[in-house]
Amino acid sequence: MLQIMNIGITDVAVIGGGLAAMYAALEASNYDKSVVIISKKPVGRSGASVISKSVHRFPPDHLKEKLSYKNKIIEAGRYINNRDLVDTFVEHASQKMDNIEKLKVGLNFKEKLIDGKNHKYFAACKPKMGKHLTIPLSNIIKTKDNINIMEGYMAVQIVIERDTVCGILIENKNRLYFLGAKAVVIATGGGGYNYIQTSNTNDLTGDGYAMALRAGLPLIDMEFIQFYPYRTVYPFQHDIFPDIFSHGAKYLNEKGERFMDKYPKKELENRDILSREMFFQKEIYLNIEDCDKDFMKEECDDLYDNYLKYKGEQIKVSPVAHFMMGGVKINADTSTDVRGLFCCGEVAGGLHGANRLAGHALTETVVFGHIAGEESAHYAGSKTKISVNFVKEETANWVPNIGEESPTNIKNILRRNMWESAGIVRNEDDLQRAKDKVEELEQQIKNLKPLKLRDWIECQNMIQTSKMIIDSCILRKESRGAHYRSDFPEEDINWQRNIIIN
Ligand SMILES: Cc1cc2nc3c(=O)[nH]c(=O)nc-3n(C[C@H](O)[C@H](O)[C@H](O)COP(=O)(O)OP(=O)(O)OC[C@H]3O[C@@H](n4cnc5c(N)ncnc54)[C@H](O)[C@@H]3O)c2cc1C
Repeated sequence: MLQIMNIGITDVAVIGGGLAAMYAALEASNYDKSVVIISKKPVGRSGASVISKSVHRFPPDHLKEKLSYKNKIIEAGRYINNRDLVDTFVEHASQKMDNIEKLKVGLNFKEKLIDGKNHKYFAACKPKMGKHLTIPLSNIIKTKDNINIMEGYMAVQIVIERDTVCGILIENKNRLYFLGAKAVVIATGGGGYNYIQTSNTNDLTGDGYAMALRAGLPLIDMEFIQFYPYRTVYPFQHDIFPDIFSHGAKYLNEKGERFMDKYPKKELENRDILSREMFFQKEIYLNIEDCDKDFMKEECDDLYDNYLKYKGEQIKVSPVAHFMMGGVKINADTSTDVRGLFCCGEVAGGLHGANRLAGHALTETVVFGHIAGEESAHYAGSKTKISVNFVKEETANWVPNIGEESPTNIKNILRRNMWESAGIVRNEDDLQRAKDKVEELEQQIKNLKPLKLRDWIECQNMIQTSKMIIDSCILRKESRGAHYRSDFPEEDINWQRNIIIN
């Protein structure tokens, strides 16, 4: 059994290096608490936040607008959103976005006139690249004396005593550490890397979902995964800025047909419908010959540069796993069923229901990141000491001894399996096959002695996350939002409810 080294205590430990984690850490530090950020990869330079398009959409601070906005979110979520989370999002978004504007971290805001007064409703960097927001924010964090950053450290397990959080088990270079914490915030992002075709980075292996499950927390809506229909896969990999489709770009199949012609909005049709139509084509190509080049240069110059670089070659496109609507079940104050354990950002579930609106994932990190920071700081302030300040070696008895093997092959089989059998179009037979395969891989990983412990734990997390996704997909015998079952193609009112995995 591996030894665990104690490395001290903190008021608030935040897991993750994306926007949700950074907002939570910054806010907790404002309450004079000692904060430690634990991130597998560099803070502000990892996860989905840094590669995002930086687009934030939010309701203007206007009563009538907020009401109609709420309805839009719930309609997109096909009526199974957590209403408390929606209310909190709509109520707080505008004010929390004002706070971000004051930080001067590269966001440009747009306003519109409502009842004779200007109201903000949109923010993005120019050009629309997440790094212009995440890097300045991480630089602010680095100036804070009461925030310590542990980069390259991976949270492995939330340590709990009598339903109360008391710290985190952490891995670094095949060693295990215990950090005691009065409060813990999970902000580990999503799990798109579970799919072979994805827009997500390779650190998004669903660790937060798996850690939450191991901690006994319920997870909600795990079947709802948004597949993004705007990504090139060959000869270069790049996100496509959807607005180019209103400026002359189009998708063609291998026969040269514009297969979205039958829909009024064509390539700008609802993302689920477009992804499904793409799934049924043999090959899909992005055609930008007739696209307004000045618009491209202005709005997506890097895509334009690639277009010039590979001129003459056909640009292949595929839908990709992009965003997980489901996740850890939280309350509106980001608290969970474990005292002192909070959760925010993409790893939390419930706000978006069965599908999310564009630009809401980043606003979600702003709203709930701030709330998690504030609530965790208050909670830590109410505790004089943590329940335990060391852990027994048995805590990590599920972690294997070090050997010489690599789980890369298992990871890749799993990712292909998820794409082929639990992807855009699902059915009972494929899902059962996917489940059998994942169980087979679970047996294989149990007996593997890894050269790198991190690879093994990530693989284990991917398996746990995949199992939750598949089980939820099998249970939901209807199509709703981003979940499409070819054997149950209609939405069924009896299924207007959530699936919760324990
Ligand atoms: C290409 C792309 C473009 C997008 N564009 C937009 C957009 O314009 N607007 C919008 O609203 N949404 C967009 N999204 C979605 C949005 O970016 C994400 O939902 C959001 O950034 C998630 O933020 P987060 O902080 O929760 O997680 P992330 O930014 O994904 O960060 C997770 C962090 O946790 C770390 N981590 C993971 N596991 C562990 C562990 N076990 N221990 C320690 N650290 C860990 C990771 O290394 C990473 O630092 C986009 C997504 C993608 C992939």
